Amino acid sequence: MPRSRSRISFPPPTSARGNDAVTVIKSAESRPIESTLIESTLIKSTLIESAPVKSVSDSLPKQNLLDLDREGLERFFVETLDEKRYRAHQVMKWIHHRYVTDFNEMTDLGKALRAKLQEHAQVVVPGVQFEQPSIDGTHKWLLGMDGGNAIETVFIPVDGRGTLCVSSQVGCALNCQFCSTATQGFNRNLSTAEIIGQVWVAAKHLGNLPHQRRKLTNVVMMGMGEPLMNFDNVVRAMSVMRDDLGYGLANKRVTLSTAGIVPMIDRLGQESDVSLAVSLHAADDALRTSLVPLNKKYPVAELMAACERYVKRKPRASVTFEYTMMKGINDQPQHARALARLMRQFDNAVQMHDAAKVNLIPFNPYPGTRFERSPEEDIRAFQKILQDARVLTTVRRTRGDDINAACGQLKGQVLDRTRRQAEFKKQLQARGIATETRDEVRIDTEEVDHAV
Ligand code: SAH
Repeated sequence: MPRSRSRISFPPPTSARGNDAVTVIKSAESRPIESTLIESTLIKSTLIESAPVKSVSDSLPKQNLLDLDREGLERFFVETLDEKRYRAHQVMKWIHHRYVTDFNEMTDLGKALRAKLQEHAQVVVPGVQFEQPSIDGTHKWLLGMDGGNAIETVFIPVDGRGTLCVSSQVGCALNCQFCSTATQGFNRNLSTAEIIGQVWVAAKHLGNLPHQRRKLTNVVMMGMGEPLMNFDNVVRAMSVMRDDLGYGLANKRVTLSTAGIVPMIDRLGQESDVSLAVSLHAADDALRTSLVPLNKKYPVAELMAACERYVKRKPRASVTFEYTMMKGINDQPQHARALARLMRQFDNAVQMHDAAKVNLIPFNPYPGTRFERSPEEDIRAFQKILQDARVLTTVRRTRGDDINAACGQLKGQVLDRTRRQAEFKKQLQARGIATETRDEVRIDTEEVDHAV
């Protein structure tokens, strides 16, 4: 549901939870923000006064260093600044280990170099418009983008791990039927700076020291958007996440989640080395297509084959198959048995035990959805069928529910739904996987049917 530019409703009003406490606070632009909070006495929300929001990458006269990974930064220092390569490393540490963005504070750089940097570069991080901790320790940031858009980033601490859920696009074009982001349509891809900037904002807030006091231990590309539709920027940002001069996360601690863009899974296998999660939700094509329209273009067998290729390339790799549990839709014993068969086939194909892992996600409701969460006992029964078939199966604990930060509830503001969608539509059409509906980009499964 698009919201008017002058009012941000945060989190989205929901009657499902019986929220009735309404707090009105003032926005950075002195406009009222209506915030409907559950247990508002327990949750302290902070509004950061910030300058009017602009993109951290678009139309900047100077190079935003946050847009560059180590390789790009080295090139910038050597080729543009005529400086030594190791200077790039010093600056990277200032930015990602000490959260310094002002070159004047980078005290181990000479005066002349600092002046040169001032002239040619800048470090622009996304502005925090709003942040909100949850009673369960989850913390959500609303980050301002250009054109009045905003995206959300969520930190989830569980059992000694700290996982950050990062967005890759403003909105999403895939139109998965049970995802609240889909209801917003697609606006644009995030730049590298806007993706790694989410990590920067969270890590700074947490006082994360990558090599000493590591609060942020995992990143999952499971926020808004389809990361494989924004391949280059996502891969570059993930390279900074895994770089010792960046956030120093092990490859397996950075997870990319995809709805299943088959050719891009192959490309990811060639160009990056991260954990792969695939949003499966159904083991058979008819059901999966009704939930994830992209399945018409890349059906289950092709998707599984791509996952096999991904795993075979890397020793001891595995794929996590996400399965959102929706009451009466995909949560019955026959669905579990079909899923178990598919997972066993996968293990056999790659000749490895537990190459396929299943993560059951209880559906998170949002206003206006026609789906419901599966009852607890059905989820347990489903899990047991899988476990009895020796499929490693976990159930995701629902976190951040009270601040609409749970899976599929990330819903930043998405405006400007037409112009940029039209541009993006062209790209999708060029790849043969989309056409346009009246005012939104949709994955066009009918067209694909004819094309295949
Ligand atoms: N586009 C990517 C990443 C974003 S969604 C993908 O499809 O994987 C991250 C995960 O949350 C996906 O598995 C998605 O299917 C799941 N999800 C989306 N909406 C949900 C909801 N309302 N409840 C539970 N899980 C949801």
